[in-house]
Amino acid sequence: MAECLFCKIRDGSIPAKIVYRDSECLGFEDIHPQAPTHVLFIPLTHISTVNELTGEDRERIGHLFMAAAKLAKERGHSEAGYRLVMNTNRDAGQTVFHIHLHLLGGRPFTWPPG
Ligand code: 5GP
Ligand code: ZN
Repeated sequence: MAECLFCKIRDGSIPAKIVYRDSECLGFEDIHPQAPTHVLFIPLTHISTVNELTGEDRERIGHLFMAAAKLAKERGHSEAGYRLVMNTNRDAGQTVFHIHLHLLGGRPFTWPPG
C-alpha cells in the first residue's frame, strides 16, 4: 500500500514526530494540531476505514485505545479528560484512508461536535 500517506509514515519514507510505538501500532503528532495534545494512533497493518474491519482486527483496534490511554496518562490528561475520535468517510470528514484514532487533550471540548 505504498501510496498511503500513513503507511509511508509507518515505513519512515515520510517524516513524522513519532511519540509512541509498539508491536501493533504507531502514534505520531498531527501536522495540524487542534489541541495541546493531538496524536494520531495507527495500526501497523493498513486498513482504509472502520467499514473494512473484520473479526481479525478486534485485538488491533482495542490496542489503539490502550495505547492512546497510556499516552494520555503520561501527558497528564487522564483525570481532566480527553477525546478519542475515529472519522469514517465523507460525512465525518475522513481525509486519510488508513484508520487512525485521534487523541485530543489539554483543553475542554464541546459536545455535540460540529
Ligand atoms: P481525518 O480527517 O482523516 O480524521 O484526519 C487526518 C489527520 O491527519 C488530520 O488531522 C491531518 O491534520 C493529519 N495529517 C494529514 N497529513 C499529515 C501528515 O503528512 N503528517 C501528519 N503528522 N499528519 C497529517
Ligand atoms: Zn496505509
